[in-house]
Amino acid sequence: MGNKNYDIIIVGASIAGATAAMLYAKEGFNVLVIDKKDVNSHKKSCTHFIQPSALHIISRLDIQKEIEDNGGIRSTADFWYGKDWIRGSVIKDSSVYAYNIERRILDPILKQKMLGYKSITFLQNTNVTKVLFENDIPIGISSDQQNTVVNYYSDIIIAADGKYSTIAKLINAKEEKFANDRVTFFGYYNNAKLKSGTVSQFWSLGENMAFAYPLQNDTVLLSAYICREQMDEWLINSEEKMYSLFSVLPDGPMLANSKLRDSVHRMLNIESIRRPAEYINIPFIGDAALALDPMSGVGCGFAFQSASWLVEHTVKGLKAGNKQELYTGIKEYAAYHTKMLNSHAKGIFADSKVSKNEKEEVFDFIKDSQVLSEYFIKLIYRLIQPEKFQLEFIKTKKTLIEK
Ligand SMILES: Cc1cc2nc3c(=O)[nH]c(=O)nc-3n(C[C@H](O)[C@H](O)[C@H](O)COP(=O)(O)OP(=O)(O)OC[C@H]3O[C@@H](n4cnc5c(N)ncnc54)[C@H](O)[C@@H]3O)c2cc1C
Repeated sequence: MGNKNYDIIIVGASIAGATAAMLYAKEGFNVLVIDKKDVNSHKKSCTHFIQPSALHIISRLDIQKEIEDNGGIRSTADFWYGKDWIRGSVIKDSSVYAYNIERRILDPILKQKMLGYKSITFLQNTNVTKVLFENDIPIGISSDQQNTVVNYYSDIIIAADGKYSTIAKLINAKEEKFANDRVTFFGYYNNAKLKSGTVSQFWSLGENMAFAYPLQNDTVLLSAYICREQMDEWLINSEEKMYSLFSVLPDGPMLANSKLRDSVHRMLNIESIRRPAEYINIPFIGDAALALDPMSGVGCGFAFQSASWLVEHTVKGLKAGNKQELYTGIKEYAAYHTKMLNSHAKGIFADSKVSKNEKEEVFDFIKDSQVLSEYFIKLIYRLIQPEKFQLEFIKTKKTLIEK
């Protein structure tokens, strides 16, 4: 295979990039990972709920001990639908859990683990500024490190550079944007407790949604998704608005002695962005391929998962040293990405619309069935496809009508 310095080049060293790098290194490849930030950097805007769907990859990366030793919490989730709870405890299998771990802790754990692999080279504080092509085939990238331009070559360039991907811009990759009717406010509350203990809580409040995530050392992250019409009131006094929202919620957090850690954070544009997971033989993983409404809490899980799917689909072509086989693998990865995530994405795009209001009776119906409740929680955890839940819903309804 042509002129190259590395078997694999990955742009972005956050969840998706670091995961792919380590999984390729385990297969014996030498990998160059480039990030514009440094080794201790972390993603600032996140509410840190890592879906159970990613647990098997976290376990393959062998970082569970580090996560738990550093305060990561095994959590499940309870869902309030306006009248009652559908509880995560309907799933009896104790191996099904999410992780609540702050990104300021998780991201450095991932990067440190990555640095432990001799076959991974990490270039920090390095911006990727150009994708290099030969006869329309990607052959490398140009990077800018302290005003010095250096080219690196490989047969595979992977975009793991997040929602507003530079690689996507550089190669004019197609993208679709999906507007969000809500904005989000969130804060870290020290000395706070949840009545649910280590169980995360989600409240559906008609137009708005509220979430409480237990973190290490009696810290609780509270996040609110507020419809845009109420945004101005929230901007005037976010702190008070957070307190008044969360203090009236059923089984809400105990905040009497709590203290806001810094300030209430906000994000006023939380549009979703979808790109094909492959464009001109360049694969996209994590948010670079699909950045969804953060209300769904799926981005970290999907970043772990998409990275592992890419590695699975490309190892054979890379090992064979056959470019055509490698490109076929990349295309198969993109098709698999669509198959696994497209219907989740469609549901999440719809949930970003305030007009989509599920009726309480529907949730009553789910709650009254043990099997449907289990499927519902598994869907929230992204362990099953939406179609599987919908089929079960129809089946249960039909059985009831026939009775
Ligand atoms: C408010 C909010 C709350 C959220 N809460 C949750 C949650 O509870 N659970 C959940 O699962 N997800 C959540 N998410 C989504 C989650 O944060 C992302 O899905 C996840 O971080 C995606 O990981 P990634 O590795 O794909 O990209 P990112 O974490 O965005 O990393 C991209 C990396 O690429 C690097 N980079 C970018 N451009 C360049 C360049 N030109 N050259 C070199 N490097 C570059 C960046 O420095 C960065 O390190 C939330 C998001 C928001 C905004």
